[in-house]
Amino acid sequence: MGENEWFGERKCVVATMHQKEEVMAPILKRELSVEIVLPKDFDTDMFGTFAGDVERVGDQLEAARNKLHKALELTGCDLGIASEGSFGPHPVVPFLPFNQELVLFIDKKNDLEVVGFVANTDTNFGSKEVKSFKEAYEFAVSKYFPEHGVILKTMDGKVIAKGIVLEEKLKEVIEEMGLGSSEEGFFVETDMRAMYNPTRMKNIELATMNLVNKLINCCPSCQTPGFEVVDRKKGLPCEYCHRPTDLIKSDLWGCKKCLHQEEREYPTGVRFADPSRCNYCNP
Ligand SMILES: [Zn+2]
Ligand SMILES: [Zn+2]
Repeated sequence: MGENEWFGERKCVVATMHQKEEVMAPILKRELSVEIVLPKDFDTDMFGTFAGDVERVGDQLEAARNKLHKALELTGCDLGIASEGSFGPHPVVPFLPFNQELVLFIDKKNDLEVVGFVANTDTNFGSKEVKSFKEAYEFAVSKYFPEHGVILKTMDGKVIAKGIVLEEKLKEVIEEMGLGSSEEGFFVETDMRAMYNPTRMKNIELATMNLVNKLINCCPSCQTPGFEVVDRKKGLPCEYCHRPTDLIKSDLWGCKKCLHQEEREYPTGVRFADPSRCNYCNP
């Protein structure tokens, strides 16, 4: 197995304190034969939180890189993985919530950095201003509570409680803080931390599989892992008129190490587009 030459039997740190290793470790062990190490007392919240109580620095990749470098330093490992998610409105369909999960893999020994990625609308991400326990509970249930946790915040965005996964607890916090008794409302939000969010955990698993698929593809020229699609070219010909369509005709594969590139045609195995996708036959 090619990948074992590179990673097999090596210690791989998973930079998480939100139990992401539950989905990441089995894939990494199975596909790369690495030994999983978890950093002790690793406070990833210092790198920013979703609840917004610590501001996040840099973009998603930078955030993952900062986290991973810290974990590598703490454990003395030269191989590791970190994940970073982002949530917001879908870029094209704004009323749909959108989750992007990035998984960063660094091998310091071989000077290798590979990124796995998934982006889809499979997320419960959301927030609502409410005035009572009943309203808060109804919103929470619509976001798959109690299997998925929720957060309570004041109107000015201060976090009151995180990781609530029990109806009684939700009620208790709202009563104790007098939240439901005044005219002033409060916010109930989905908790996006992986261990409180099985839907997000699933996407982290998909991003990890995307990463591993890249890592087991080695460059045909220099044999370095991480040979991946770097560009896609449209123009798959219409089956009827043979004019180019907007569907993908070929993938451009590239190696970050030696910069070797290869164009591979018909990535899905299909050589012609259905005429229904053709701008001439079906304008
Ligand atoms: Zn190469
Ligand atoms: Zn056509």
